[in-house]
Amino acid sequence: MKKKIVIIGSGFSSLSAASYLAKKGFDVHVFEKNDTLGGRARQLKKDGFTFDMGPSWYWMPDVFESFYNDFGKSTKDFYTLNRLDPGYQVVFGENEIIPIGDSLEKIYTIFEKEEAGSSQKLKKFITSAKDNYEIAIKDLVYRPGLSPLELITPTTIKKVNYFLSNIKRDVYKDFKSPKLRQILQFPVLFLGAKPSNTPSFYNFMNFADFGLGTWHPENGMYSIVEAMVSLAKSLSVTFHTNSAIDKINVDNTGTATGIQVNGKQVQADVVLSGADYHHSETLLEPEHRAYSEAYWDKKIFAPSSLLFYIGLDKKVKNLAHHTLFFDVDFDEHARVIYDQPEWPENPLFYANFPSVSDPKMAPEGKDACFLLIPIAPGIEDTPEIREKYLNIVMDRLEKLTQQSLKKEMLFCESFCVNDFIEEYNSYKGNAYGLANTLLQTAFLRPKLKSKKVKNLYFTGQLTVPGPGVPPALISGKLVSELISEANL
Ligand SMILES: Cc1cc2nc3c(=O)[nH]c(=O)nc-3n(C[C@H](O)[C@H](O)[C@H](O)COP(=O)(O)OP(=O)(O)OC[C@H]3O[C@@H](n4cnc5c(N)ncnc54)[C@H](O)[C@@H]3O)c2cc1C
Repeated sequence: MKKKIVIIGSGFSSLSAASYLAKKGFDVHVFEKNDTLGGRARQLKKDGFTFDMGPSWYWMPDVFESFYNDFGKSTKDFYTLNRLDPGYQVVFGENEIIPIGDSLEKIYTIFEKEEAGSSQKLKKFITSAKDNYEIAIKDLVYRPGLSPLELITPTTIKKVNYFLSNIKRDVYKDFKSPKLRQILQFPVLFLGAKPSNTPSFYNFMNFADFGLGTWHPENGMYSIVEAMVSLAKSLSVTFHTNSAIDKINVDNTGTATGIQVNGKQVQADVVLSGADYHHSETLLEPEHRAYSEAYWDKKIFAPSSLLFYIGLDKKVKNLAHHTLFFDVDFDEHARVIYDQPEWPENPLFYANFPSVSDPKMAPEGKDACFLLIPIAPGIEDTPEIREKYLNIVMDRLEKLTQQSLKKEMLFCESFCVNDFIEEYNSYKGNAYGLANTLLQTAFLRPKLKSKKVKNLYFTGQLTVPGPGVPPALISGKLVSELISEANL
């Protein structure tokens, strides 16, 4: 008889774990509360427009490739991946746009134009970032976070200085141009914390950005979900949608025995939750929870977001597939996310126009527009606030890119803190998990294996290695290894 594993949630980490565990011979069942699979990587299709509702940046293509290779497959067996040029552009004001091209040479040239001498400094910076990327991928991120000793290897020991300084300090030391400083601090925002609170070692994200590039899977990020679901199904994983888990059952020996789904009992040898870690523990009786409310409350969470999905009755100009609007004070916006949670007066925002490079994502002659404003988790979310910020960002978009957009809006849907809580059971409505700060890295993150309940495991963006789609794939692999190694 095969051992049975139930997985709570169908985000990338769960999908990844499901395939690895099925390949190892387990009978795997995935239970998802919503009617679609893929967790936060949802797709919205409306009136011929296609939107990715969550992740939109495809970075670290090597991590995806390595995942598919583990199953004897390759990325190209599932979708067509194109490198974007520019990878993205950054708007600092009217007619002040810096494009980040698809090669280091193009990026060195644009840096030099902005600040004389900066290309040489960038070369040095990227050399160290590349070195750290290789160490991170080979030596660190594929470790389960069981012990601090995992971090100590002959290569990492030489890098101890990189854990004592931070990204902001390094960037400010070498670059004078405020624009270049902001560009170089952007990649670490994916880790969910302020650059001043992110160890220098994480400059490997700069290599992921400039060195490895920004890619787009045709038809959008949802193609990854389709790929991973089809892979899992080919390995006999069973999916159950509209299946909210309301309890994790634990017997009197402290062993997980299954779950309660929509009031029905499902027995299992192992329970693995890929749902938000905090929520997953609320499915246990209080005595079986490893982390208290006070523990979660003290943690630094990645931001939540106010998101808009807009169908435009025109083709836009002066906008790339990915455009960052950094025309306001970066530090001030970070302050109201992390230090004094409140709505930003002048928000930074990110605009995504996928149909600029992938015309199938909008009807002919039109463009799909997705806007994201990062905000503090847990802040007030009302229809009036959403409306106010829609007007703020649309006005800025129109002015900075010199075109009308508001009057061409065919529809606009929004998603914010309340939806993250309602749709994904996300703690305080965080969008992408627990930040990767020095004190929330590796063995200091919530554990993959429950400290209190036998045969209960966790995966996803609140545990190791951290937020983002590539880390979610890795998290699924790590937990599947722990489960396989356990003596069930
Ligand atoms: C707006 C946004 C933009 C992002 N941008 C990027 C990007 O550009 N690039 C990138 O790499 N990453 C990005 N991320 C982060 C990335 O999407 C996430 O880190 C990753 O998708 C998280 O996957 P996960 O497996 O941890 O869980 P989730 O995607 O959170 O999946 C958990 C699943 O569990 C389900 N669930 C919850 N409770 C229950 C229950 N009781 N019973 C059953 N099911 C339950 C939820 O419905 C959900 O489907 C972004 C995230 C957001 C929200």
